[in-house]
Amino acid sequence: MIQGCIEGYAFSMISPRLLLPILLLLLAGCSTVVGTGRSQMRVISSEQERELGEQAFQEATAEVTIISKGKEARMVRRLGKRIVEAAEILYPSAEAESYDWKFVLIDDDEIANAWAAPGGKVAVYTGILPITETEAGLAVVVAHEVAHVLAHHSAEELSHALVMNGVLSAGGAALGGSDAKTREIAMQAMGIGGQYGVALPFSRLHESEADELGLFLMAEAGYNPREAIAVWERMAAAQEERTPEFLSTHPAPENRIDEFRELMPEAMELYEHSPYR
Ligand SMILES: [Zn+2]
Repeated sequence: MIQGCIEGYAFSMISPRLLLPILLLLLAGCSTVVGTGRSQMRVISSEQERELGEQAFQEATAEVTIISKGKEARMVRRLGKRIVEAAEILYPSAEAESYDWKFVLIDDDEIANAWAAPGGKVAVYTGILPITETEAGLAVVVAHEVAHVLAHHSAEELSHALVMNGVLSAGGAALGGSDAKTREIAMQAMGIGGQYGVALPFSRLHESEADELGLFLMAEAGYNPREAIAVWERMAAAQEERTPEFLSTHPAPENRIDEFRELMPEAMELYEHSPYR
């Protein structure tokens, strides 16, 4: 497990004086991703993660119109709730019930996107609805976003950014309160303020992890997982006219579809036994 946490750091680039504190911090922050069992390194607390996510959500939604009434807004909230309940059943150690979840629909037909801020705030733009088409189709996208949250992908990326920026150079102590420098790096790492929402493109690893967890979550929530393939096919087709914003942070639909096909037997098993069916 420890090896997974210290992989990817160019230790030869780190000054010998900082090597031990950094190593200790990496080891202290070593944890396991729910579902996949991968080791990840997080040096910010869940509390800090939540706080940053809340701030990111406020900033990203400050100048948009949130639709709170009507069929579509209700659908977003309903399926969000079902996916969280599925997470509680499927991955109890993720403690999905302890998050402050919020699922909102943003009124913008021009933006085909969805994103999640760490800590459980998920936003869907009306512009993605023609691609997702059905409730199960939208569940593909929302479950993928919920999976990013439960796997703490933002916190992991942020931790790497903080370590690489030498934020811990003050003796290597674990990060204290969210001081100005931490906050600045956090906002950068999460890509706040960009037109495409809160998240920067995640790494390939995080994407396939969110695809996998998301597929199982939607299946457990009683949405047909085969819809995942259909949605990514529609996403690829939509690209011929204009690249959906979701694809600017989620590249290569073709590779995803192959992965979904591999995971489908296990997902169908969950779907067949879903309490929602
Ligand atoms: Zn993603």
